[in-house]
Order: sequence, then structure tokens, then C-alpha cells
Amino acid sequence: MDADDVDATNRGSKRIAIIGAGPGGLCMGKRLLDVGFDNFVILERGAGVGGTWNFNRYPGCECDIPSALYSFSFAVKPDWSKPYGTQPEILAYMEDIAERFGLLKHCRFGAAVTSAVWDESAAEWTLTLADGSHVTANIVVSAIGMFNGLAWPSIDGLDAFSGTMFHSGHWNWDHDLAGRRVAVIGSAASAVQFVPEIVQVAGQVHLFQRTANWVMPKPDTAFTEDELRAFRADPSPVLAFRAEVESNINKGMTFAFPEVNAEREAIGRAAIDVVEDPQTRRKLLPDHPFGCKRPLTSNVYYPAFNRPNLELVTEPIERITSDSVITADGAERTVDTIIVATGYTASRYLSALDVVGRDGVHITDAWHDGAEAHLGITTAGFPNLFMLYGPNTNNGSILTMIEYQVEHVLSHLRRMDDDGIRWVDVKADAMRAYNDEIQEAIAAVVVWQAGCNGYYRSPSGRIVTQWPHSMTEFQRRTAVIDPTAYEVG
Ligand SMILES: Cc1cc2nc3c(=O)[nH]c(=O)nc-3n(C[C@H](O)[C@H](O)[C@H](O)COP(=O)(O)OP(=O)(O)OC[C@H]3O[C@@H](n4cnc5c(N)ncnc54)[C@H](O)[C@@H]3O)c2cc1C
Repeated sequence: MDADDVDATNRGSKRIAIIGAGPGGLCMGKRLLDVGFDNFVILERGAGVGGTWNFNRYPGCECDIPSALYSFSFAVKPDWSKPYGTQPEILAYMEDIAERFGLLKHCRFGAAVTSAVWDESAAEWTLTLADGSHVTANIVVSAIGMFNGLAWPSIDGLDAFSGTMFHSGHWNWDHDLAGRRVAVIGSAASAVQFVPEIVQVAGQVHLFQRTANWVMPKPDTAFTEDELRAFRADPSPVLAFRAEVESNINKGMTFAFPEVNAEREAIGRAAIDVVEDPQTRRKLLPDHPFGCKRPLTSNVYYPAFNRPNLELVTEPIERITSDSVITADGAERTVDTIIVATGYTASRYLSALDVVGRDGVHITDAWHDGAEAHLGITTAGFPNLFMLYGPNTNNGSILTMIEYQVEHVLSHLRRMDDDGIRWVDVKADAMRAYNDEIQEAIAAVVVWQAGCNGYYRSPSGRIVTQWPHSMTEFQRRTAVIDPTAYEVG
């Protein structure tokens, strides 16, 4: 973004409601102010800003791409304490963005939107909040994120457990794990980060794994005070690293180069060698190709298995009793704490709310085959509704992807304002053509077809989360609006 992206025109006539004060909502708000749209509210169901980084507070929670790129282009932070920033640091960064760019006065916390209904004649949306109140807006920008609904496993007896049970996405910090016998259900992104932390205090941890993940080592030595001082005085090394990370992600994110995949798979395989027990090593080796699921990063996950108090269990869980977990082989492990780390309901997108568009069509019906949008941002039949981090935009640095989406939304808003357009709706055939092409590109990503990536898919089996090209390609496609793709009124 250049300085001339800041436009002094007052474009306050349109009322805009942003849903969500995570990175997406904050970025949208900041850029709206830059270009003169100051008539907006950010409705956030939580008590503060930061989204993912506010809700996920489990021990060890941190970025899995270098933070040099996981920060906005308009606020590059030169002094992350280490290359992969931690959750408290990322949250503090997001809080600073909200404060520094004057966004807090636009935020309404404790405002959970439950439904959105389009009124064609008034060309406005009516949002209903959980407390029964309403907010009307000409434009709605959904920034509800992809990881907001917690996914719970369906296991016999889970409700009957009488010990302490919580989801890692909603960590129970009041429950002291010191000396506890803990079952962790799930071994993906969150577990890889918190298991090495909790084994340091818990008495015994049983980690129940359904699928092993590729867990890559990362250069993550904390910066010294001298280095941080130097970065603050002259951020050019950080900017150079940011550009390098972006370029590397752009090259590797489509997993399209078998030799690169093979090289990275070999690194992942070698990382497991640190585990002393051969049986555990074998169980930790993924049986899917590198890239089928988002690869994870950690330097401390595999070494944790050399501790006597961490057991990896790969037998499927058969049922849970009031104080134990019983696996299919009949083994019973007595525990007093269960930490559920089975992730999020990631493929629902806006259908998590009751959204009613033109002709009274509910988004759940429009999306009967799974969430679908044009460029991940607009969806046919739902005018003046823009999504950030929407369908098929997940890949690379999400903050970078969000910035491109925000610029695209701004282009629509400027055009509407300049040309006196009351509403804009992507045409169904333009959206279909776009999605046919995206699905073709997804089908060409060989490793995504290996059947290990459940959360990428809608119940119909279609991959609705992933962007199959580079971030640069996404930027190119979203940079201009094709007016023929939209109906306006
Ligand atoms: C543990 C974890 C680690 C991650 N690590 C990385 C990483 O390393 N790199 C990366 O690129 N991405 C990562 N991600 C993805 C991350 O979600 C995005 O990078 C980023 O947070 C998306 O921002 P967002 O604003 O779109 O969504 P979110 O951060 O999810 O924020 C959405 C906000 O909307 C609010 N909201 C939702 N529904 C409603 C409603 N109905 N009414 C009102 N408010 C609502 C939520 O409360 C939340 O505050 C990670 C995700 C998780 C869960």
C-alpha cells in the first residue's frame, strides 16, 4: 500500500457494519478510515480485539509462519521477540493496531450477530444481535474468520466424564495441570504447540492421535536485545526477511513441485529421528504425502516424546467413562483431565449465521453444496455483502491474503460511491465460472487429493477452504474489478 492510498474524500454516506474484530475486521476498519469511509461499526461477539489470537490462549500458542510476514504491510513490526511470534505478542500487536489507528471507538464488544437479512427496496441489511437488538447497514463486511466454531469429537461417553474437560481453543487456565493425569484428544496444530508445554508440569499425558502430521523444524532462536534495538533503528533487515518469506511461501504453498515436496518431506522425516523409542517414531511418521494437510512447525514437539510422562496412543478411542479413556484394544487409561484438541468447524463460513439474501434465500440453501464465492469475497444473491477470509482463500500468510481482500472491497465501495450505485451483487454465472476454474486448479494439486484433509472440505466433499495458487496470483486477480461480473442497482 502506498501513501496515496490514503484519500481525504469524506465518503461517510454509506453505513457499513463489519462483523468481527479479528485481524480481518481491524484491517478493514483501518483502510476504511484511510480512504474516507468513517461511518462504520465493528461488531465483535468477544470482549476485545484480536480474533484467533484473543480466543486461543493455550500454552505454546504461536504463529506457524514467520511473523515478519504475519503483520500488516502498513504496520510492519520490527521487533518480534523471536522469528515466530507468540500468541501474547500477536495479541498485543493487534491491540496496538486497534488503538493506534483509532478503531476502538468503532468497536462494539459483546455484540454477537446471529442473523442478517437483506431488504431489497431499502438496499440495506438488518443484522440481529444475540441480545435481540438490531443494526442496519448498507454494506456488511463479514470478518468472522474460519476458525471460530470449536469442533468436538463424537465419542461415546464424552459427556459422562466427571473430571475437568475443556477445548484447547478455550483453555481453562483456572485448572492447574501440575501432577495431573491428562488425556489429549487430537494431535494437530494446537496439540503440537501445547503438548510440549504441558508435559513439563503434568504427571502423565496420553496423547491420542488419529493422524500423524508433518512437523517441520524452524529457525526460531530468540533475538538478543542488541538485535532488537538494531531492528528498531533500521528495520531494513526485517523488511528484507519479510520479502524473502513471502517469496518462499509463494513458491511452496501450492505444493506443485514434487522435488520441493520430497525435499521438505525428507526434512520432516529426519526431524522424527530425535525420538528415541522406535515404536513411537514409527507412529509419528505421517502416512500421507507432505502438503496434503497444512504442514506444522515445532522444534520441541518430537523431543517431548523422550520424556517418560508422554505416551503416544494410536489405538482409536472406543469410549470415555467418568474417569478414563478406553481404546479399541480394551486398554483403559485413568485420567482426571481431558483436553480436546480436535480443531474447529472450518468450512461453514457465513452459514454459521442465518443470512438471508435476495428473494428470501437463506445462505445455507444457496450453499447446499458447500460455501462458494467469487474471489472468496462476494457470493451471488447476497448484495453488498463482502467476506474476508472467505471460501477458498486459505493458504499462505492469511494477513497478506486479507489485505488483498480488503483492497478489493474498497474498490467496490469507491466505485459504488463514485457512480451512485446502491447495491452490487456478483452474477451467478461469473461466480460459477470462477469456481469451476478454482476447483480444476485444486484437483491439479495432487497432494490435496490424498484424502487426509477433512477440514478443507464441505460435507459434500468439495474443498472449500483452500486457495490453489500463490498469494501474488490472488493479489493480481483481486486488484481490479471486472464490472461485467456484477449486477448493480
Ligand atoms: C491456533 C491458530 C493458529 C493460527 N496460526 C496462523 C498462522 O501462523 N499463520 C496464518 O496465516 N494464520 C494462522 N491462523 C489462522 C488465523 O485465524 C488467521 O491468520 C487470522 O486470525 C484470521 O483473521 P480473521 O479476522 O479473519 O478471523 P479471526 O481471527 O478468527 O477473527 C474473527 C473474529 O470474528 C468474531 N466473530 C465471529 N462470529 C461472530 C459473530 N457472529 N458476531 C460477532 N463477532 C463474530 C470472532 O469472535 C473473532 O473475534 C491460525 C489460526 C488458529 C486458530
